[in-house]
Amino acid sequence: MRREGIIIGAGASGLAAAVAAAEAGASVTLLEHMAGVGKKLLSTGNGKCNLTNLHLMADCYHCRDGEFAMEVLKTMPPEAVLAFFRRLGIVTTEKNGYVYPASGQAKTVLRALKGRVDELGVRTVLECKVHSVTKKGTGFTVNTDQGRFDGWFVILAAGSMAAPSTGSDGSGYALARSLGHRIKKPLPALVQLRCGGDFFRQVAGVRTEACVSLYTVGKAGELETFLASDRGELQLTDYGISGIPVFQVSRYASIALDRCKRVAAVVDFFPLASVEEFETLLKEQRTLLPKRRAAVFLDGMFHEKLAVLFLKAAQIKPDQLVESITDRRLSGLCQVIRHAVFMVEGTNPFDKAQVCTGGVRLGEVKRDTLESKLVPGLYFAGEILDVDGICGGYNLQWAWASGCLAGKSAAKGEANT
Ligand SMILES: Cc1cc2nc3c(=O)[nH]c(=O)nc-3n(C[C@H](O)[C@H](O)[C@H](O)COP(=O)(O)OP(=O)(O)OC[C@H]3O[C@@H](n4cnc5c(N)ncnc54)[C@H](O)[C@@H]3O)c2cc1C
Repeated sequence: MRREGIIIGAGASGLAAAVAAAEAGASVTLLEHMAGVGKKLLSTGNGKCNLTNLHLMADCYHCRDGEFAMEVLKTMPPEAVLAFFRRLGIVTTEKNGYVYPASGQAKTVLRALKGRVDELGVRTVLECKVHSVTKKGTGFTVNTDQGRFDGWFVILAAGSMAAPSTGSDGSGYALARSLGHRIKKPLPALVQLRCGGDFFRQVAGVRTEACVSLYTVGKAGELETFLASDRGELQLTDYGISGIPVFQVSRYASIALDRCKRVAAVVDFFPLASVEEFETLLKEQRTLLPKRRAAVFLDGMFHEKLAVLFLKAAQIKPDQLVESITDRRLSGLCQVIRHAVFMVEGTNPFDKAQVCTGGVRLGEVKRDTLESKLVPGLYFAGEILDVDGICGGYNLQWAWASGCLAGKSAAKGEANT
């Protein structure tokens, strides 16, 4: 007899689970409360969908049990993800490990998944909000605003709270909780940081190579504990900092701020050289341009909006001659540029976050099948689990791998008793 099952959430992981479960012989109903499937997928990679990354290592994922994530990912490594999409008609292109569809369009990835789901006879029900899931004897009853659905298994693939306008509004956590699961508090991750001060209003729109390090701050304002650091293109906005290096460290700010710690971002605006090399470079610049005004001293190195603020912070007057800048002032300038400290007032909210930290606790889920240890026949896939990846295709990689594992396992599982 075909195992009948229900998947809640038709995002990346739910669609992958539907394909895997139906290909393994299950009869699948996919419930989605939005008007269409895969809305978040459409916005991934700025509409281009960075669907995986070939450089996959354990430290690309954050979760309490790192081995859990790696064991799931081993069942469908990036090469298997490429093969999966190739079967669906998608040709991919890769640069430095980052993989995109050759079409450069996320919507073609979504169409390929949707096409396969339809071909396999999966019943997709849209605008169908799931309100409750209850275990009934050997199966489940799922109550929705379109009536009741029964199945032998349920795969909860309802996402997190990140970007709720795409459908992942956190209701999946409530469903998991109602079935006895504990949820590690979800917090925004891969998100911008809001910093205080006038500085940002004056440099909004500037992009520059930088290294961003986060620290907790002690009672006397001293940098206390190092949290995380990343380098790349920093985007300065009117409220604070954004860009990939900020996204990569943002989860640490989220967690520390949630624990009522004070957090500072230390920005190195010239990570291309060591501090000593940079001081030498500044002295060389002074020798090269002795009769120029200090206002243009940093022209060859920084965006002019940044240069003005650096000189001001180092108390170098724009009208003074470059040759009159003392060694002491140059050292001060070096410190301002290489060790700029900004207090982090908060992260942007969930609607600006790409993913969440937190979710269904991994200790309550079997790592080889993604079945609940508490409720036989209940499976989890995707971001609802307490796993978050860094930027670069790692979160979709997690969605595909966990979705396919949950789908296959659920289709093969024994009838629940
Ligand atoms: C702007 C943006 C860009 C991103 N870019 C990338 C990228 O390029 N590469 C990458 O790896 N990752 C990227 N991510 C992250 C990635 O999109 C997510 O990690 C991934 O989509 C999570 O898949 P999921 O299936 O777990 O959740 P989702 O894709 O969020 O799917 C969950 C689905 O469940 C539905 N649902 C929720 N609750 C209910 C309910 N009660 N009843 C019925 N349906 C429900 C939702 O409507 C939704 O369709 C990006 C995220 C954002 C926001």
